Amino acid sequence: MINVITCTLCLTHDCTLRCRYCYAGRKFSHSMSRETAERAIDIVFTEAKRTNSGADISFFGGEPLMEWELLKHCYNYAKEHATSLIVPPRFSITTNGTLLTKERLSWLAERDFLIGLSIDGNAAMHNSNRCYPDGSGSHAEVAKALALVESSPSLRSQAICVVTPNNVRHLSDSLEWLTSHYSGTISFNIDYWSNWRDEDFELLCEQYSRVAQSVLQSYRDGKPIKLRNIDDKITTHLHAESGNCLRCRIGEREIAVSADGNFFPCSRLVGNGDAPEFNFGNVTDGIDRARQQYIISMRGCATPECKVCSLRNRCLNSCGCTNHAASGKLNEVSPFLCCSEKLFIRTADKLAADLYNKRNHSFMTRFYGDSSKNCAK
Ligand code: SF4
Ligand code: SF4
Repeated sequence: MINVITCTLCLTHDCTLRCRYCYAGRKFSHSMSRETAERAIDIVFTEAKRTNSGADISFFGGEPLMEWELLKHCYNYAKEHATSLIVPPRFSITTNGTLLTKERLSWLAERDFLIGLSIDGNAAMHNSNRCYPDGSGSHAEVAKALALVESSPSLRSQAICVVTPNNVRHLSDSLEWLTSHYSGTISFNIDYWSNWRDEDFELLCEQYSRVAQSVLQSYRDGKPIKLRNIDDKITTHLHAESGNCLRCRIGEREIAVSADGNFFPCSRLVGNGDAPEFNFGNVTDGIDRARQQYIISMRGCATPECKVCSLRNRCLNSCGCTNHAASGKLNEVSPFLCCSEKLFIRTADKLAADLYNKRNHSFMTRFYGDSSKNCAK
């Protein structure tokens, strides 16, 4: 399998929204210059060649569609300069949908972009956090963007929903809303920056149990919901013997570039783009190898309980940015992360066991490739 480095370009620190949980730093009108973007792409492509890897380009922000002309320029530049890469680059964008139009979507679809549309579910869940600067909710506009995405069947997409203590009570209703408006992959991203109290976690357990029931029923009905949280944990069960499928490669496999051209090991750690803690170079001086090695040396999981835990190869325990959000350290798991990972793994296992024992056709086809196979579980 070919290793791939992702170059995440934070095209602007500005955004049309002011989501209450935003980790992307202060919002101010400051965009990446064309020269900075080109230099960043050059450096990542050189790094890909040096390490015999592929290189993908991802557009992030702020809201990257605020810099539509720059985005198109970056795409053209990357295509033009990718000729010596071992595989052609793939492109993706994470957008809040407020500036998505039919024309823009067609342009992205024609170039095989993967679109991550941030929509937190139904209006009650979404508007709890995803607001305009005046505090009003953005659900009506983003629901229109979701409809546009849904009407482009060849488009690669996923709906990204951020789950926080203040919106978790709407989770199962939101899954229902999303699946009645969208047939693609849904991802529930837990907000690990938030303070999850015991009662919030109880609510998460209760809601997630309802979510699992809906997913189970969808398999029984022959129209399985594509929920990444469940699917990924089932996949980790099938591949657990080959090591931690979720092992984080922070410092190696992603170079996130702030609008000013500073390098960070993950898009979630860019913030305002000027914090020295995780900075490892810039477009002028290139990659700072000493800083890069320091970040690599800090990753992994140093929590003693994890070393003897039977779930360690199926758990997010080594995800640097998740750990940092929850515990303040790249390699230290927080109690909430541990509890939520156990919840997700056990829920997926229960659901999978039920479907496997009944040789559910949709389940067997999705995870074993052949419904007639008699796989050992
Ligand atoms: S849309 Fe994204 S970048 Fe903009 S405020 Fe919301 S979370 Fe932050
Ligand atoms: S479930 Fe908890 S103890 Fe087990 S590996 Fe994950 S974080 Fe560590």
